[in-house]
Amino acid sequence: MRVLITGGAGFIGANLCAFLTGFPGVRGVVALDDLSTGSAANLEGSSAELVEGSILDRPLLDQLAAAADTVVHLAARPSVPRSLADPVASHDVNATGTMNVLEACRASGAHLILASSSSVYGDTEVTPKHEDLATRPLSPYGASKLAAEAYTLAYGSSFGLPVLPLRFFNVYGPLQAAGHAYAAVIPAFVDAALRGEPVTVHGDGEQTRDFTYVGTVVRLLADAALRRVTSPAPVNLAFGTRITVNHLVTLIGEILGKPPATRHVPARVGDVRHSQAACDQLTRLFPSVDPVPLGDGLKHTVAWF
Ligand code: NAD
Repeated sequence: MRVLITGGAGFIGANLCAFLTGFPGVRGVVALDDLSTGSAANLEGSSAELVEGSILDRPLLDQLAAAADTVVHLAARPSVPRSLADPVASHDVNATGTMNVLEACRASGAHLILASSSSVYGDTEVTPKHEDLATRPLSPYGASKLAAEAYTLAYGSSFGLPVLPLRFFNVYGPLQAAGHAYAAVIPAFVDAALRGEPVTVHGDGEQTRDFTYVGTVVRLLADAALRRVTSPAPVNLAFGTRITVNHLVTLIGEILGKPPATRHVPARVGDVRHSQAACDQLTRLFPSVDPVPLGDGLKHTVAWF
């Protein structure tokens, strides 16, 4: 099996490249990345070939997808705040870029696994969030992910493209960058706590998130690629184990042996209050999946810093 990973030099992509290195049945891994948020250094220790380029480059995508059995499409301008700062740029990469990937897969017949996002649900009091819930994205990021997902499903139904649209919730683990304005909550908290600075909590900290360790995600993506798993509907990728942000601070403090100080700032526009996945569709497609518990995943993450 030959795998093309768009966004392969990013956090999840580079973890997937490392996991697939030497994996039985995998003959080649190519990471296509424009290095806008990813980095070549993330691929040290993996045998993936890095092609520096953009998913907005159709001829390049066509060429790379023609040589792939599966495309794992992770390239995106991630983060809600980044999309508020420049909604058009998020649309270009996340929606138009996904159209390019779909066209390349249509031409080559490659199996496509799409990284969609829980942000497509928007704010709803309903938890856990089942895939049948109405989607009401609160941010341009969520809207661009919903467009990508809708096109992916339409290519599946219209052209028979083998597709698997996965709605990632909060993924965390080694290689997730901290120290920048758009950092995700776990690396931001661990980084601040290790430097002895207060962690910044948006709002009252009682908002909840459903965290999945990146090691669990890449094992699942590899399994999906090898078994060519498809779905005619989106599938949540998380396990329904939500915790509050305040509890997360406590857990990180327990691992570090010292509770971090906290600094509260106003809640962010576009952030949802509660996030928890229904995971029955995921476990139906991946019955042997065994997620890494949050405590263990946090220890691995802290050890990586
Ligand atoms: P990341 O920023 O680390 O990875 C995205 C990668 O895409 C980066 O390496 C970046 O350089 C690359 N990229 C951006 N624009 C590109 C372009 N035009 N052409 C080629 N490469 C480009 O983010 P991540 O956390 O690894 O996220 C991977 C995917 O999962 C994204 O699609 C993201 O929206 C989705 N997702 C992630 C999470 C999470 O918790 N990390 C949650 C929901 C969805």
